[in-house]
Amino acid sequence: MLVVKFGGTSVRDATCMAHVAGLIGDTRQRHGPLVVVVSAMAGVTNTLFALARAAASGHEEQARGMLEELLARHLATAGELLRTSEELGQAQQAIRTVIEELSRYIRSIALLGEVTVRTLDLVAGAGERLSCALVAAALRERGVPAEAVWATELIVTDAHFGAAEPDLEQSRLRICERLRPLVERGTVPVVTGYIAATPDGVPTTLGRGGSDFTAAILGACLEASEVWIWSDVDGILTADPNIVPEARTLAELSYADAATLAAFGAEVLHPKTVAPLMERGIPLRLLNTFRPEHPGTRVVSQPQAEGPRPPAIISTHGLSLLGIAGNGAAWTPEVAGRALSTLAKAGVEVLMFSQSFSERTLSLLVRQADREASLAALEREFGDDLRAGRLSKVAALSQVGTISVVGAPGGHGAGIVPKTFAALGRLNTPVVSVSQSASEYHVSVVVPEEEVDATVRFIHRELDAQ
Ligand code: ASP
Ligand code: MG
Repeated sequence: MLVVKFGGTSVRDATCMAHVAGLIGDTRQRHGPLVVVVSAMAGVTNTLFALARAAASGHEEQARGMLEELLARHLATAGELLRTSEELGQAQQAIRTVIEELSRYIRSIALLGEVTVRTLDLVAGAGERLSCALVAAALRERGVPAEAVWATELIVTDAHFGAAEPDLEQSRLRICERLRPLVERGTVPVVTGYIAATPDGVPTTLGRGGSDFTAAILGACLEASEVWIWSDVDGILTADPNIVPEARTLAELSYADAATLAAFGAEVLHPKTVAPLMERGIPLRLLNTFRPEHPGTRVVSQPQAEGPRPPAIISTHGLSLLGIAGNGAAWTPEVAGRALSTLAKAGVEVLMFSQSFSERTLSLLVRQADREASLAALEREFGDDLRAGRLSKVAALSQVGTISVVGAPGGHGAGIVPKTFAALGRLNTPVVSVSQSASEYHVSVVVPEEEVDATVRFIHRELDAQ
């Protein structure tokens, strides 16, 4: 049995969903039974976070506007995708039910004037329920028996809202009990990625990009023969092909190496995906929905490839650097602890942080989408310190991106750090912040957002040539 997962861009509109339904049908014919996992349509999860935060900060009307857009987008997709009045009617009903539920959450959040991480999970997971209903309906219309299944029924997690940890033993029982009978009678389960629930049924999420992890959990618990993750690129590449046209696909990687690349932000793979598969030796494939003939990247325990892989460059856009500055001697190490826990409570993921040695400032890297919520939370937390002059400022400093260079593991990757800095020096790139892990074969730098692409192209060319 295969587990196949489709990301948000693979299901971003009716045309893509129809294509995905065709791909699922073909894969089933060629490889036998499978379980499907889907993400929310591209951009939907971001909108859900934005609307919850708008409602919490007194902009209920704005939140309702965003909800209307979500309703319109999903109804339009259903209208274009589905032909039979029965499937269309059912899908419209499913969409309305989810939207009405969201509408009630918006009201409650607006009344309270705040949103907890627990409520954020309730709201954020709605996108997967919507896309899942559409993909299942599209499959049935194409003659593939399919049933939408919400992973809140399947995956049991702890109550760490925003990035819950699954309990694989408990989940296995539920997954096998619910999915095996479906698969045995020839039905394709179409499972919501990203969402799960605590043992007593309170909805949680697995963290942003967590649908890959859902696929790995299902694959491990069902002892799948392979797990395939379909996105809009040809697997894991030496750089983002939209930035570096000559970037090459890494044909084969070890589990450990793939996990490292994912941890550095390789968008195609959620970092937690690898471990459950590695433990059971289940191969993982990363494929392109829009180029299904491309072999993509295969992740296995013993890569057969000869020689070390080239260094991979992973870049991220759309980040914001926040700064907290002390007032001379008043700085205490406790500021960092408070800042990090405040942001965690606000449901914001801090991607990198650093404390300067001499200036007594702390900088925190967050997604631009989280910037306003982060600043509001930090201003609340440090309001007294600012008023009393213990701190001099809490502010958004600049819009930035990150570039990470990850060399091949072992001796081959050594020297990546000086080579990267030499290239940055030759290009004269202004480096805002640096983070180097304990290992000598990876390094990450923060640069102004507008410098990211040109810098990535330059480093890729320089390192490739050496
Ligand atoms: N829809 C979720 C997100 O945007 C999960 C995923 O796409 O994997 O983070
Ligand atoms: Mg993803």
